[in-house]
Order: sequence, then structure tokens, then C-alpha cells
Amino acid sequence: MARINDNYLKLQAGYLFPEIGRRVSEFTTANPDAKVIRLGIGDVTKPLVPAVLEAFHQGVDEMADAATFHGYGPEQGYDWLAQIIIDKAYKPRGVELKTTEVFISDGSKCDSSNILDIFDLGNKVAIGDPVYPVYNDTNVMVGRSGNADDKGYYEGLVYMPCTEENGFNPEFPAEKVDIIYLCCPNNPTGTVATKEQLKAWVDYALTNDAIIFFDAAYEAFITEADIPHSIYEIDGAKECAIEFRSFSKTAGFTGVRCGLTVIPEELLGTTEKGEKYSFNKLWNRRQTTKFNGVSYPVQKAAAAVYSDEGWAQVKEIIDFYMENARIIREGLTAAGIACFGGVNAPYIWLKTPGGMSSWDFFDKLLNECFVVGTPGSGFGPSGEGYFRLSAFGERENVETAVQRIKDKWGK
Ligand SMILES: *Cc1c(COP(=O)(O)O)cnc(C)c1O
Repeated sequence: MARINDNYLKLQAGYLFPEIGRRVSEFTTANPDAKVIRLGIGDVTKPLVPAVLEAFHQGVDEMADAATFHGYGPEQGYDWLAQIIIDKAYKPRGVELKTTEVFISDGSKCDSSNILDIFDLGNKVAIGDPVYPVYNDTNVMVGRSGNADDKGYYEGLVYMPCTEENGFNPEFPAEKVDIIYLCCPNNPTGTVATKEQLKAWVDYALTNDAIIFFDAAYEAFITEADIPHSIYEIDGAKECAIEFRSFSKTAGFTGVRCGLTVIPEELLGTTEKGEKYSFNKLWNRRQTTKFNGVSYPVQKAAAAVYSDEGWAQVKEIIDFYMENARIIREGLTAAGIACFGGVNAPYIWLKTPGGMSSWDFFDKLLNECFVVGTPGSGFGPSGEGYFRLSAFGERENVETAVQRIKDKWGK
């Protein structure tokens, strides 16, 4: 009989979102008239913008005619899309890239997982705590860890606590590591790293021969002018960093699927014999073998995000979400609840009032304010005592939720 990948059994059952769902449905069954407002999910709520939709439709129409039909495209994505991304998203920030360094994909959840294919299992990995759970679980799945301890830390992985004390910008790992995951702007804390902080990470990586996996899924939500959008804005980053980006949150592509990974030619690793080798070459080999590219209409739609018209429309929605974030952040602050993030990211990370546990606060918020959020402890042990609210939602719902929280705690 075939043997399973036992590493999967080390994973704690997908506990967080099913448990939230269970508690919410129990509540709504018992209170059918309560108008529950969901600010828990990390999914967008606004539809695709008109310019994107038009390009998407055109792409589909081209597929209907033999003269304009597209079959398999380049596994790395169409050159024209990579060039538009370079011209519109990187060049204006002083970052020069070649199209061969930009790999278009069906999203950055897959990329940030699949990237592990081209790294030896012996590499030591450091991740934040709290963290986007994908980084942790995919490393467990490939067999880089032992079992989890009582707190939820896996043996063999290095955790970097992100706390109020360090401003949610973690300290350097306590031991020598080879790979460091940074998510900036951060999910779940909504916080960002300054140019100086990112420079310290790049310098650290260069000095310690480590590679940074930089997840920039929320870069489009940055509002403060001096916060870097790309790690390549920092000198030396091309020698030590891979960057992941996604159209998901930027342009509402969560259900359309398009993202990208940048691997600069300068980024090198070592072979078993100690010779240097290009990660760009390896990723190209990986993608051409295991991936067949993103559909043509989706890439047309993605290109339209960066047209003048498309970007203006997309930006309007981002501004709308960030206004939600401001309303939540200022409302909570007025209610005497300490909160973080929400300035350069669509997430507000709040400290539970009175030192309540994350799950106790979840229950209280649901039962007394009819508002659903995400318990911070679900993102890692250091998330205990914190709670995530998402700025994705309708304005009226956000305002009502904030008012209910103010009525409950703001006295
Ligand atoms: C939503 C999100 C992504 C994007 O994932 P896709 O697969 O591109 O939809 C990546 N990283 C983080 C931290 C996210 O929250």
C-alpha cells in the first residue's frame, strides 16, 4: 500500500477558520435576527473594475476566433505583462528589472509555497509569529520540521516574535538561518517596515548568507510616502531577496488568480559541491516543468490594472478600503482600544481590552456586538491577546460595527 506523506499529519487541523465558522453559525442559529457583520476574512468585497473587466472580456473574445486564439503561452507569463509590471510598478520606484526576472503565476499563495521546491531541505527557515499560516504549514508539509510543541511552535523552524515591544518588526533570528520570510505590509498585524528597518534586514541577509522571501501582497495599500513597496528599493536586495506580489488584494483578483514572483539574476545559492548557482534558472526550470502559465484572458485583465484608466479605478477601491481602515482604527482608538496597522494595510491589529484572550474577545464581540473578526492567537502564539479586523467590507457595515464596539467599550 502506498505510504502517505507523514509530514501532513504533523499539521494542526485547519483550526482557525472552521472554528470561527462553527461559532458564527451556532450564534446565528440561536439569534436569527441579529445582523452579523463579518470583518474576519482576508478577502476583498468589491467587484473587478470596468477597465479590467473590459480587457478580460476582450481576452475571452480573442479566444473565440482562430485568428486571435491563444493556446499554451509562456510558462513564465507573457513578456508584455511582465514589461508593464516593470514599467508601472517597479521603475517609478527606482527598481530596474528584466522581464526574465519576473515570473507571472496564478497567485502568490502557490508561489510562496512552490518556491520551497528549489531550496534544499537542510536550509534553516525563520518566520514571523504571528504569521500568514501558509509559510509555516508549507515548511511542515515538505518535511522541514518536527512536531509542534504545546504552544504551536514546530521543532526545527525558527520563530521571530512580532510584538508591541518591537513594533511588530521582528528581531533578527536567534540562530543562523538560511531563509527569512518577511511579509510587508504585514498580514495579520497590518504594520510595515521602514526603509531603515528593511535595509537592516537586507544587510543582515547579505552578512549572514541568508535569503529573504519578501511577500508584498499588500504593497498597493501603502499610503505613507517613505515606506518601500519593494524590497529591491534597498541596495543589495537583488543579491538576497525573492519578492512575491499578487493582483488578489490590489485589484480584486482573489477569484481570478494572478500573481508574480521576482527572482533577480544576481540571486545565487550554492550547490552540494559549493559552487554558486542561479535561483532564477532553477525557478525557470521548475515553472516550465510543473506549471503551464496563467490563462490569456487573465493576463490581459492583469495588464489592464496598470493602464491609466484601470489604475485610477483600482486606486479608488484601495482608497475606499483604506478609508474603512481609518474608520475602524480611529473608532477603536476612541473606544480606548489600542490598535496597530490600518495605515498602510487593510488590517487592524487590536489589543484585546482588559487582557482578554483572543478567543474570549471573539465570543464577546460576536455575542454583544454581532461582529466577526479573527482571533490573533490563530496566527501564532505571539498573537494571543490580539485580534484582527479586516477593512474589506461595505462602508455601512464598517460604520455600524465600529459604532457597536464604541457603544460597548467606549464608556
Ligand atoms: C492574500 C495574501 C496573499 C495573496 O495570495 P494569492 O494566492 O495571490 O491570492 C499572499 N500573501 C499574503 C500574506 C496574503 O494575505
